[in-house]
Amino acid sequence: MTAERTIRTPRDLVEAGLIGREREEAISRVTASYTVAISPAISRLVDRDDPDDPIARQFVPDMAELAVMPEERADPIGDSTHSPVTGIVHRYPDRVLLKAVHVCPVYCRFCFRREMVGPEGLGTLTPAELDRAIAYISGHQEIWEVILTGGDPLVLSPRRLGEIMERLAKIEHVKVVRFHTRVPVVEPDRVDAPLIAALKGSGKATYVALHANHPRELTVAARAAAARLIDAGIVMVSQSVLLKGVNDDPDILAELMRAFVETRVKPYYLHHPDLAPGTSHFRLSIEEGQALVASLRGRVSGLCQPAYILDIPGGHGKSVVSASSIEAEGGGCYTVTDFRGNRHAYPPKG
Ligand code: SF4
Repeated sequence: MTAERTIRTPRDLVEAGLIGREREEAISRVTASYTVAISPAISRLVDRDDPDDPIARQFVPDMAELAVMPEERADPIGDSTHSPVTGIVHRYPDRVLLKAVHVCPVYCRFCFRREMVGPEGLGTLTPAELDRAIAYISGHQEIWEVILTGGDPLVLSPRRLGEIMERLAKIEHVKVVRFHTRVPVVEPDRVDAPLIAALKGSGKATYVALHANHPRELTVAARAAAARLIDAGIVMVSQSVLLKGVNDDPDILAELMRAFVETRVKPYYLHHPDLAPGTSHFRLSIEEGQALVASLRGRVSGLCQPAYILDIPGGHGKSVVSASSIEAEGGGCYTVTDFRGNRHAYPPKG
């Protein structure tokens, strides 16, 4: 096989040098349950000499995925609990998710929607389902923001995206449209003029949240793709998942956040990994996550600080879970901890 084709099967993984031939049969038990796709850009990034390569860990299937823990669940963040019509998740009053497509250019081994995405997943909305989803948004005046996610909405053709955006353009109360995507990193060439024109087609404020978890993902090509979006007037923010063996290291995390800021992508969300089936090998404890996030405070600029977020299982929404640096002492007095770990009275005594 050539390096320029998306890797989709255990045989492809062997031929691309991503797994040994002796593992092909065993890995096919994983791929029978969870889809594989590794784009050429990502395949090129993998260091095949490093058995612990953080890029491979995110995309190459692993036997550990067959171990499903009792606390794990198919719908870890409770999308279905808040889905009034197919393709819409209405969890918070002023915004909805519009899940137009459940296909991705790559499949992340830790994906929180791994039971829903892929060719066997929930698919793409039919024209009738899309009509009902748009009618729902149109009929709910409180919806200020529409978040296109999935799947990866940027796998849709510019024509299809443009059609969705034109329909959102007609809904007066929608002011902001946000896309969540990995495309600028995993298929940077897809970010071309027709795609950018489609993204801007609603005339609303357009945001793109870029998903990347390791600084090596922000290649020259990925940064150039982000620059094309930003230079066209699209605001970019980041989202990352804190992952054991990928970015659970203060230096790597700092480098990742700096790489985003250098790319003009404002660090936004750092997710605690969700309780998706077969992903326990990626999860660290909340305390470990809090310590890593606290380590960013003195180490990197305020521009580089993301919010550390836990999606509460059951569909109860997001909660910031960063360790607090302030303790109430009563009587309007507090103890505040600085980035070196030193404690100070507030207001100061004497
Ligand atoms: S791109 Fe997003 S939706 Fe697709 S597999 Fe990765 S985490 Fe899941």
